[in-house]
Amino acid sequence: MEEKKINTIYLLGAGRSGTTMLATILNNHPNIFTIGEMHQFLDYVLEDKDCSCGSKLSQCTFWATILNSLDLSVLQNKNNVELSNSSEKHHLIPFYLLGKNIPPTYRKIIDMVFSTIQKKVDKPWILDSSKYISRYLLLRKNKKLNLKGIYLVRDVRGVINSFGKKVQTPKKPLSAILYYTLINLSAQWVCWWDKRVIKIKYEDFVNQPEQTLQILEKHLFNSSNNVTNLKNETFNIPHIIAGNRLRSQKKLVIKKDMKWKENIGRTHQILYYFLTFPLMILNKYKP
Ligand SMILES: [Zn+2]
Repeated sequence: MEEKKINTIYLLGAGRSGTTMLATILNNHPNIFTIGEMHQFLDYVLEDKDCSCGSKLSQCTFWATILNSLDLSVLQNKNNVELSNSSEKHHLIPFYLLGKNIPPTYRKIIDMVFSTIQKKVDKPWILDSSKYISRYLLLRKNKKLNLKGIYLVRDVRGVINSFGKKVQTPKKPLSAILYYTLINLSAQWVCWWDKRVIKIKYEDFVNQPEQTLQILEKHLFNSSNNVTNLKNETFNIPHIIAGNRLRSQKKLVIKKDMKWKENIGRTHQILYYFLTFPLMILNKYKP
């Protein structure tokens, strides 16, 4: 008998592109259960870090039951934590594209964690919002997963502005640009040859969330259910691993952040645009 596959949606993209917001809103969908940035799961388990609900993982109403069903000796093994982190490094992206194999222990850990979660949740799809391209390339080599991807891209200047805030791993503009280019070129490449991945623009999503969710509905479930007005709706934050500071709020509304237009001077706006122009033009952003 063929084993049932684990339905998994994966969010790809650069940090500060709105993935935490999109992941939270998609959790509202009757088919989707968002679990957060799972590339950090082993670190979270090892150090018993806080879930977005504010409780330690071992005390959280959702994660505690998951942890009870997992073999913690495997997850807390330092070598496995190290293997998990080192397998997902950005510099491995080209090697995975060229056919480098998934490490067997890494695959076993993913199988154990994802199948346990799927058994415990009441929705057919789980959503991993890790963003890392290398992790997506590893997951797609895992035949136990039925995988779909969403690649979220945002205007580089929105990303730079967000990295400029003095919270959570700030980046200077030049290093933000290098990071942005590396991640988005790789994600774009994946999106071109892997039809399981759909590209969504942050700006389209915040301006017309209903249309964007309609497009995602078609891509993920091949259905054309109507999406009702979301502008004034509030969304509960699920029990997510990692993610940006939105996660510490209790509720979320769809918020459009275009502050870069005021915060970045015109000369720098144009400079940043031209430093990333192939991506900007490809994604139809205006200077
Ligand atoms: Zn929690």
